[in-house]
Amino acid sequence: MSYKYDPKSSIADEFINDEEIKACLEYSEKNKNNVELIDQILEKARKGKGLTHKEAIVLLDCDIEEKNQEIFALAKKIKQDYYGNRIVMFAPLYLSNYCVNGCLYCPYHAKNKHIRRVKLSQDDIRREVIALQDMGHKRLALEAGEDPVNNPIEYILESIKTIYSIKHKNGAIRRVNVNIAATTHENYRKLKDAGIGTYILFQETYNKESYEKLHPTGPKHNYNYHTEAMDRAMEAGIDDVGCGVLFGLELYRYEFVGILMHAEHLEAKFGVGPHTISVPRVRRADDIDPDVFDNGISDDTFAKIVACIRIAVPYTGMIVSTRESQKSRERVLDLGISQISGGSKTSVGGYAEPEAEEEDSSQFDVSDTRTLDEVVKWLMDLGYIPSFCTACYRAGRTGDRFMALCKAGQIQNCCHPNALMTLKEYLEDYASPETRRVGEELIIKELDNIPKEAVRRKTEEYLTGIHAGERDFRF
Ligand code: SF4
Ligand code: SF4
Repeated sequence: MSYKYDPKSSIADEFINDEEIKACLEYSEKNKNNVELIDQILEKARKGKGLTHKEAIVLLDCDIEEKNQEIFALAKKIKQDYYGNRIVMFAPLYLSNYCVNGCLYCPYHAKNKHIRRVKLSQDDIRREVIALQDMGHKRLALEAGEDPVNNPIEYILESIKTIYSIKHKNGAIRRVNVNIAATTHENYRKLKDAGIGTYILFQETYNKESYEKLHPTGPKHNYNYHTEAMDRAMEAGIDDVGCGVLFGLELYRYEFVGILMHAEHLEAKFGVGPHTISVPRVRRADDIDPDVFDNGISDDTFAKIVACIRIAVPYTGMIVSTRESQKSRERVLDLGISQISGGSKTSVGGYAEPEAEEEDSSQFDVSDTRTLDEVVKWLMDLGYIPSFCTACYRAGRTGDRFMALCKAGQIQNCCHPNALMTLKEYLEDYASPETRRVGEELIIKELDNIPKEAVRRKTEEYLTGIHAGERDFRF
């Protein structure tokens, strides 16, 4: 059956349309050296309102050195204009690696009999959260395999409640994002009521044929149910959704067009695109050899993808995890990344009790194994402000309210002071002496970059309050 491309449709095959993607790839191949067209696209992109998937792929494919320099420079400018030098920090928290699916690239697949299966009890979660709070984290991404018996929605909801309830010393988890399998309207409503931040679901691949091969068994095999999940989540009232593909599974050009189409679909149907886009690459893990997947991308291509996504969807946050090495993360930070994880453990229960190698329960090998304190200091040495801000979600600035503020350029007035105040909390409560020294200097310097006098004064006042022991100020 053939489907017609329609960004407003509710049918996956229509809003992620294979024919349209292939036509775009062909168009782009023909035009990748078309200087006039590339200049027109860059001209439009400079206005900062984004690009269509068809325009963005031409930039991604462009192989004229001089134009590529312009593309990278523009990505850096947009990053700077919209996100400044702030990088928001988070950590993943793995609840359970029981899973009934058969995803070929993930060690949690049901047929892997030698991986250690672990599911955290509520007491285990308490220990994990205390360990995360003691590191300084305020924002988590919950991860769990799909297993209706071991990880039913009730378990996820109870876990979220537990996480929000723990206040250890000055610590608190203020935003819980959730990355669980595609589910029903009813379950999305329950997640919304539990107070989640972003609902994250990676598409893995937008190519339906490959998708079905890579997911041979389990409920995740159903491409349409998976691809239409964000629609159900948003219909159920979840304002912020996070998309992503796993680069390396399929041809990156196909995925690139697919993810932008998905963003356009959400914008067309709900008036608001994805809150974030993640750009993971396949990594080595128990039972998984990334070399088996022959679509791996080089660091250069990875950087170009990040730059072109930044240009195409300026208002969408972009996330890079510890799957990437320090070097690779450093390269993409100024091209468009707005959030990174730090001090991550990808094993179940790994924060409270790091596991021995032979007990491996992790989803992938972490490339960047530094502690959160090391990552925070590294960011500051590079000129970034590590931010533990969670203000928008807690002030109800989600979905279209968030985007409206964003598009009006107003969000900048909150982000910068919030970054400084949450960094100050981190320095007071968790940082090593050297990190604290570097951070205090940075805060003094960055106070001058708050344009509004009144906001600057208020921020100074709040910073003094934090030093005196008060917590949780926000704009
Ligand atoms: S990717 Fe997710 S659904 Fe697939 S096996 Fe891993 S945990 Fe299960
Ligand atoms: S103010 Fe909002 S957009 Fe800015 S860093 Fe905080 S949560 Fe993010």
